[in-house]
Amino acid sequence: MMLMARQQVEILLDSPHQRDYVVSAYADMTVQDGFNRYVDRYLKNQARAAGEALAAAEARKDLDANLAVILEVVQARHDPAARGLAVFSSVARGLRHVIPLEFPVENHLVLDEEPFLLPILEHWYGEPSYLIALFNSNEAHLFEAHPSRPELLRDLQRADADQEFQRDKPQFTYKKRFAATPHERLHDAKDAPFLREVADALAEQWKDGRYAGLILLGQSQDIGALRKLIRKDLDARVVGEAPHAMTTRPDALTGDVSRLVNDWRAERERQILAELNERWKRDHLVANGATEVLDALQQGRAVQVLIGTRQDIPGAHCMDCGYRFGAPVGVCPYCEGRCRRVNAVQDILRLAMRHQIPVELLRLPARSDPLEPAGGVVAMVRASANWANAPKGAAEVV
Ligand SMILES: [Zn+2]
Repeated sequence: MMLMARQQVEILLDSPHQRDYVVSAYADMTVQDGFNRYVDRYLKNQARAAGEALAAAEARKDLDANLAVILEVVQARHDPAARGLAVFSSVARGLRHVIPLEFPVENHLVLDEEPFLLPILEHWYGEPSYLIALFNSNEAHLFEAHPSRPELLRDLQRADADQEFQRDKPQFTYKKRFAATPHERLHDAKDAPFLREVADALAEQWKDGRYAGLILLGQSQDIGALRKLIRKDLDARVVGEAPHAMTTRPDALTGDVSRLVNDWRAERERQILAELNERWKRDHLVANGATEVLDALQQGRAVQVLIGTRQDIPGAHCMDCGYRFGAPVGVCPYCEGRCRRVNAVQDILRLAMRHQIPVELLRLPARSDPLEPAGGVVAMVRASANWANAPKGAAEVV
C-alpha cells in the first residue's frame, strides 16, 4: 500500500507551498470508529512515504486542519441512516462539503486540486434506482430499489376496500396477502378508479426521483390494466413485470427485482454493443479512447458515453485554458500552458454529468471488457470533429 500513499502525497511533494488543494474523504459508516482508525494509519503511512519533505511543508498544516474538519463531520454522524459519507474539505478555499451516501464505501483519502468524485459518479451511473409498484385492484405498495435493496416508499389502499386503512408505517407492518379473488377484480380500465390512483401516484413518485426504470409486480391482468392508464413516457420506462404475491416487506421482492433488473441491463448492453459494433464496422460517428471522447464532450458532439471496466485512464488538465486531455500530456497543445495529470475517467464522467449526456458503464460480470480495443472508453457522437478529414463514406452528416 506504500505506492498508494506515495501517489496521494505527490501533489504536496510537487508543490510544497501549494495550499490550495482539496482533501476528499470517503468513510465507511457501517464500521464503528473504522474511519478514525483508518485516518491514524493513513497519517503514519503518509509521513513515512513523504518523510521530511512533507513534514516541513506548509501544506502539512493545511492537511491537519482539513483532517480535523473531516473527522469532526464523521464523528458527528449527521445522518445515522447513511452507510457511507463523502467529505470534501479545503480550508484554504473555504470548502466544506458533506455528502451522505446510501451505498457502502471503503475508507479512502485523496489529496488533489479538485475533489475526487469517481466513487460517487460511478455509483450515479452504474447503480441507478428503480421504482417498483406491487399492486392489485385494492391495494398498492410503491418501493424503490437501489441495487438489490428495495425500500418501501408508500402504501395506497382503495377507499372502499373492506380492509383497515394503512399507510406510511412500512417498518412496523408485515402483511402478506394474496391477490383478491378473480370475481373481485376489475378488468376494465375505465372501471378501475383505484388503478388510476396508482397510475397517478407512480407519475408523482417518478417525478420526485431519479429512476432508471419502472418495475411492475402483481397479477398480469392488473398490470395490463395499469399499463393502459400510465403515461406513455412512463410505460416506455418499464424495465420488467412479474407476478408477485402481495406484501409490504421489501426483502420479499429482492429476488424478482434483481432478476428483472439484470435481464433488462443485459439486454440493454447487448443492444448498445450491437449498435457500437455496427458503427465501428462502418467507421461511423464513434469517438474512440479517452482523448477523442473528451474532445467530443467538450465540443458538444457526444450523444452517449460508454465506459468499460478500466477506472484509471491517465489524462491531463491544462492549468491555463482548462482543456482536458485523455492522455498524460505535459504541455497544452492549444495554449502551451502547463498540464497536470488527472484521471480521465473521472473527467469524462464529470463532463457527461454537467452536459447531461447519458453514460453506460459496461460492467456486467463474466465478460472481458468489450471496449479494451478502443482504450476503455468510447462515445457515440452526432458529428465528427470539425478538423477531421472528410469521412470515407458519404453517409456522414455533420
Ligand atoms: Zn491550454
